[in-house]
Amino acid sequence: MEKIAPNICQLEKSVFVIVGPEGTTNFGIVRGDDGCALVIDSDIRRIDEIEAALSMTGCSKVSYLFNTHENFDHSSANHYFEKKGATVIASEGCWKALMKDGEAKFAEMGGPVPELWQRFPDLKMGLPHVTFSDTASVYLQGITSRLRYSAFQGQGHSKGDAVVFFEKEGILFAGDLLYVDFHPVTIYGHISNWLQSIDRLRGEDFKSVVPGHGPVVEGQAAGKQAFAKFRSYLEDFHEQLLTAASGRQSAEEVRAHMMSGAYARLGKTWMVQRNIEYFLKEAR
Ligand SMILES: [Zn+2]
Repeated sequence: MEKIAPNICQLEKSVFVIVGPEGTTNFGIVRGDDGCALVIDSDIRRIDEIEAALSMTGCSKVSYLFNTHENFDHSSANHYFEKKGATVIASEGCWKALMKDGEAKFAEMGGPVPELWQRFPDLKMGLPHVTFSDTASVYLQGITSRLRYSAFQGQGHSKGDAVVFFEKEGILFAGDLLYVDFHPVTIYGHISNWLQSIDRLRGEDFKSVVPGHGPVVEGQAAGKQAFAKFRSYLEDFHEQLLTAASGRQSAEEVRAHMMSGAYARLGKTWMVQRNIEYFLKEAR
């Protein structure tokens, strides 16, 4: 892996990652030999960073944009790239989720950022143009991407979870099914299904794994370990939540547990409270 800018890594000749600062979303750039690109996830709030990375990596055009799932930080530049001629691809689950409440979520997330509407007066949520229910492949010149729906029983981290494999290069983009070094967002997910989704992924063959948030993990053993570590976080958190939902401990005790020991150094600590509150509200 080579760093070509403070937040941009080159994993392979044609595969780049924009690593989100402080645990913000990671984006992928896959460059075909002719300069046509597949972009993996995009957030309109960080469009300048994405455009700068596209020119730095020698991409002349974004032909495809893939949403690993429906959340705003992964899908909010769909319309932006659609207008520039890109075909937006996502799982059928992601498409359905965006159809159902994508507009409302877009307004909720984009609302607090009025400068977005000043800059992009016709900004709106863009739906994917092409969907798949199980797998799909994107063929660029010189590199093939395999997309795979990975939300166990229809909901893992979210309803749309899909991953990207580069089989020849041994690279896996796991989307938000994997977080490294940061507390996850669990409010859109189903934690026990999520564990199953992880179990399927960690059995795969890969040399590097790109999480949805956090640093790229290199080496098969380190990648498997990252999945194992995150899996045990989720499993523990789920048990803690169930104990709180049944009244055997307080929300504050769960929060204190998730901020200490093995978790003490994880970033984005404000997620914990939000995740707990949401779970307990739903459990009522
Ligand atoms: Zn995310």
